[in-house]
Amino acid sequence: MRPFAFQRAEGLDHALQIAQPDGATAIAGGTNLLDLMKLQVETPETLVDINPAGMAAIEDDGEGVRLGALATNTATAVNPRIKRDYPVLSRAILAGATQQLRNKATNGGNLCQRTRCYYFTNIDQPCNKREPGSGCGALKGIARLHAVLGTSDQCIATYPGDMAVALSALDATVHIAGPAGERTVPVRDFHRLPGDTPWRDNVLEAGELITAITLPRPVKGKQIYRKVRERSSYAFALVSVAAIVAMDGDRIARADLAFGGLAHKPWYDPRIAEVLMGQVPDAALFDAAADVLLADARGFGENDFKIPLARRTLAAVLAEATGVDL
Ligand code: SF4
Repeated sequence: MRPFAFQRAEGLDHALQIAQPDGATAIAGGTNLLDLMKLQVETPETLVDINPAGMAAIEDDGEGVRLGALATNTATAVNPRIKRDYPVLSRAILAGATQQLRNKATNGGNLCQRTRCYYFTNIDQPCNKREPGSGCGALKGIARLHAVLGTSDQCIATYPGDMAVALSALDATVHIAGPAGERTVPVRDFHRLPGDTPWRDNVLEAGELITAITLPRPVKGKQIYRKVRERSSYAFALVSVAAIVAMDGDRIARADLAFGGLAHKPWYDPRIAEVLMGQVPDAALFDAAADVLLADARGFGENDFKIPLARRTLAAVLAEATGVDL
């Protein structure tokens, strides 16, 4: 690890002030950042500890719930209101990492975690995300964990998290503060596709910090988070599905679905709900929804299996949510 300076912020304003200069990186739980620093993928000149900035409350905001950016993943997952009204979020968080990591990891940091592409974390390998213009080792290399939707010829990495997939299904909002003031971004627009600028994971500008995530008023429906992975814990998703599905009689009245493990961002496609809503659920309908999801899917050899796996996982989740026996 390279030497770096360390500064502790005294509050949010101070954090925003000292996190401005080039070379300064904010640290909260550090569960991803410190690994990347040890690997020399991240080499900040100054680490700014933003933990004294507060922002750790989980509170009712009059409609839904406001999650402080510095609330830990554990505190969020076990919060009684989250477990009762947003169980898909609690389950998604608990499906990620380990108990020890969740105890340290924060909600803001979770959204900002970086891809686990093997070439990104190995500084001897080409990677356009780590070193723009150096190439993409994964395109013709080991790509088992990589994306099948929204890829570019610059990068085929996946966003690795679980929590943001549930937040996307829930249509949460990210609150941001920075040099130009405060702004909000729908979580569905927070992460980016790689395009020609794969080094940008999300829409945060230099010097901006996430301050909170707000969840809208809870909605009726069954909430499911299903994560398919190589082993039953401490593994990233090959495919995951977060679903909020409500029935009106024998027809689907609501179908908010988001997918992990498939793209550079949690994948949300409103056309899937359009296919499902108002219909009587059956295997053919679930197949039609998967056709929409996967119409533009493209594998890169080792990850070809993700395309049929996503189809089967979506069908399984919809069957569970609607009571259909496949
Ligand atoms: Fe880098 Fe993206 Fe290619 Fe991985 S997939 S090597 S992160 S450019």
